[in-house]
Amino acid sequence: MPTHLEHFTTEVTPAQTPSRTFLEISRQAGNFPTALARVPEGSAEVSVWCSNDYLGMGQHPLVLAAVHDAVAKFGAGSGGSRNIGGTNHRHVELERELADWHGKDAALLFTSGYTANDGALTVLAGTPDDTVVFSDELNHASIIDGLRHSGATKRIFRHNEVEHLAQLLADTDPELPKLIVLESVYSMSGDVAPLAEIAELARRHGATTFLDEVHAIGMYGPEGAGIAAREGIADRFDIIMGTLAKGLGTVGGYIAGPNGLIDYVRATSRAFVFTTSLPPATAAGALAAVRHLRGSELERQRLAENARLLHRLLDDADIPYKSSDSHIVSAVVGDDTLCKQASALLLDRHRIYVQAINAPSVREGDELLRIAPSATHTPTDVKEFAEALAGIWRDLGITTASARRGSS
Ligand code: PMP
Repeated sequence: MPTHLEHFTTEVTPAQTPSRTFLEISRQAGNFPTALARVPEGSAEVSVWCSNDYLGMGQHPLVLAAVHDAVAKFGAGSGGSRNIGGTNHRHVELERELADWHGKDAALLFTSGYTANDGALTVLAGTPDDTVVFSDELNHASIIDGLRHSGATKRIFRHNEVEHLAQLLADTDPELPKLIVLESVYSMSGDVAPLAEIAELARRHGATTFLDEVHAIGMYGPEGAGIAAREGIADRFDIIMGTLAKGLGTVGGYIAGPNGLIDYVRATSRAFVFTTSLPPATAAGALAAVRHLRGSELERQRLAENARLLHRLLDDADIPYKSSDSHIVSAVVGDDTLCKQASALLLDRHRIYVQAINAPSVREGDELLRIAPSATHTPTDVKEFAEALAGIWRDLGITTASARRGSS
């Protein structure tokens, strides 16, 4: 019986299209929290504490220069899909750089991280059609959607629970092809997956592994190549998926992996084939960001220091947060109305913007302020932010960390 991975080593021609297409009626749009900032009238400046431009690369002079240069050379857009006129040197260079960064054969760009997950998983999880997918319960919507679109059988394991995953694998027919999909740093909780243990389980069960490193690339590991690289096990993950929109400060997404598999996705993923490619200037900006971050520890160090300081100050103020594993600091409010009030007060009193995250983005009772310090904040900014938050926590009577511990 071939493993799941071996199904992708056959040659495919670019003319091939997926054997199945999936059209899902989108879910009702109601009830989703607005992502719009409430900016006080007449205000000139707001200090942002929920941006995903974690390293400030969206403003970095090298990135801006690369973008300007590429706009001057190639114009504003790419002019077509990758297969029909829309492939530029910058796309190809960036794909080579990303593959090299992750120690993989090849990489493939998509127009967003969402599209990379959705487009790649639709075909990878759906081929062959008896593949069983094992997916962490907190995986991002783009992963969930790709798996849905694939039509594959899904087994959902409890968040970061290796034993539950082991059980589900053991209960599955050993002959069936298997795919494990997970994130390294989870977007809402900021905790890190037990990658080595999951990689070992995958090896034992012959499962292919797909790792979303969207909140890790640029920020962790040697040259910023991510958490798997930090743990020296990037080779244990068949596909590493990333975004250009967070640590790299631009927009776009990608997967990196073995040649056969990348060619398969290139040839069959409708989300890759049937859309206009990224503007070359965006690819040039992301390329400058990767190259810079591979050689510079400064941004990573500053982000890590800011995150450490914030963790310490929140501990001092008895403010509960989900995890100290990463730079994503999710302060748990645990109530929908209080969460919105806390966010509004931060803005009105202190001109600080942090979006309230309520259900369905998180479970009910888990409502939180997702705080993202950046490498561009100073230690003084972090202290002022923590003081402002502590005042609001007190004034609104939000449950403290010790009270939470006492009641659990
Ligand atoms: N994966 C994860 C874990 C995410 O949090 C996100 C977006 N926040 C994405 C994928 C999609 O990335 P993008 O914003 O580049 O579409």
